[in-house]
Amino acid sequence: MSAGELLGHEFVGVVEEVGSAVNRFKAGDRVVASFYVACGHCTLCRKGSFNQCVNLATFGFGEVLGDLGGGQSEYLVVPMADFNLEPIPSNLSDEQAIFVGDILSTGMYAAERAMINYGDSVAVIGAGPVGLLATMCAQLFGPARTFVVDMVDSRLEIAQELGGIPINASHVNPIESILEHTEGNGADSSIEAVGASASVDTAIRCVRGGGTVSAVGVPAEFTADFPYYHMWEKSLTFRSGRSNVQKYMRPLLDLIAAGRLQPEKIISHRMKLDDAAEAYRMFDAREATKIVLTP
Ligand SMILES: [Zn+2]
Repeated sequence: MSAGELLGHEFVGVVEEVGSAVNRFKAGDRVVASFYVACGHCTLCRKGSFNQCVNLATFGFGEVLGDLGGGQSEYLVVPMADFNLEPIPSNLSDEQAIFVGDILSTGMYAAERAMINYGDSVAVIGAGPVGLLATMCAQLFGPARTFVVDMVDSRLEIAQELGGIPINASHVNPIESILEHTEGNGADSSIEAVGASASVDTAIRCVRGGGTVSAVGVPAEFTADFPYYHMWEKSLTFRSGRSNVQKYMRPLLDLIAAGRLQPEKIISHRMKLDDAAEAYRMFDAREATKIVLTP
């Protein structure tokens, strides 16, 4: 990114003005946005793969990802707003709604693609904001046990409050620990929510034969060692990618309104937009799990 480009791809706001093609919204509406814009009319959008839209662009990543603005600002233009915004129900707060545009939909996408059956054991690798919300969403599918692997105790404590069984990878080998808890078989499925090669490897090796790996962590590398033989030998299914956000926003808002999901539980700090630089420092230093910036 270049100096001066605006950050912020996860935001709520109030509509100030609408373009001539916008039908669903009017000035004054409270809305939440998908973190990326899809067009809704290309071939892959029409097939329901909005995350593969040929016109895809991401907020707050400058020219490299489509030259849109960022949400950490006073005003922002949302292209194709009818398709990329959802109205926030009046009984939901901004904090309850904001994560449906990114990390909650990513958590649900991860959990759904992990093919969890009731009674299963699931392993979530990484207890950052996405891993925590994946843990929360996984509970809707009825697993008997959800192991959550991380190295930060404060994050593992939140995971435990969400129904997870914490495994601190700085004290124990997480693969051995999950095997011990599952009679040597491994978890039925895993969710990878980091993107580092080592954690992808853990997500693959902690799963039983015939199991599923659902990887949503943004890769830290373009190519990496991949335990292909192990996966073939174990007949594993590997699913990966960014969330299909536009499909999830409406149902997630309904789940929050019904009290089945409480995504605001992962917020550790609330700070002013003017203090954003300090907020980024705290997040980098793992002093904060999730910071919401307010005007
Ligand atoms: Zn499209």
